[in-house]
Amino acid sequence: MVGICDCVYMRLLLVEDDPSISDPLLSGLKREGFDVELASSGEAALSAEPADLVLLDLGLPDLDGRVVCQELRSRSTVPIIVVTARGDEIDRVMLLELGADDYVVKPFGFRELVARIRAVLRRSSGVDASPEETSLEWGRVGIDYRTHQVFLDREAVSLTPKEYELLVFLASDPGAVLTREQIIDTVWDENWWGSTKTLDVHVASLRKKLLPSLIETVRGVGFRLADVGGDL
Ligand code: CA
Repeated sequence: MVGICDCVYMRLLLVEDDPSISDPLLSGLKREGFDVELASSGEAALSAEPADLVLLDLGLPDLDGRVVCQELRSRSTVPIIVVTARGDEIDRVMLLELGADDYVVKPFGFRELVARIRAVLRRSSGVDASPEETSLEWGRVGIDYRTHQVFLDREAVSLTPKEYELLVFLASDPGAVLTREQIIDTVWDENWWGSTKTLDVHVASLRKKLLPSLIETVRGVGFRLADVGGDL
């Protein structure tokens, strides 16, 4: 079966004016099998050939990245991942309203970026054509879906069934922000109306049993699996 993540045929448009960022990204993404075109200005981005996904830096020399995002969105349904600098007063809701599908904040881990690109491509293709996964390695953390075992640095860690389900749900789209509502609806029950503190308690125990930095709180939104390093 040929999955969507045979990314050889996926064309990415990288919009980035800073060569110290675009150079390593270009070579890294090419190594991952993507066909990447670089646009180093907003004008270049708007006159580029159509791509399967756009990685858009918001801080461009000529045009406001938000305008570029809106313009690209008005022309096509191409998935757009926005790249923002840490400290930018960027409202997540505003980004999504501009038509971005996801965003990453500099500095970001390369592995996390690739996971986000694949997740967005999978979502936009409407089908998850990738083969059934039996395990996931996320930095120092591993999950074996067949045996329901979780590993930290290859040592098995004992989780409760709910802790396991919560981790598996967060790992279904590593790096992406999942809202509290999505998590509660999926891991608990659609009609679950107990205290949302239960979710925080489970997050806290996963952090304690695995890594404190594994699950990042996105204030006012939800949680996401953070890049916890390990080998690339
Ligand atoms: Ca820039």
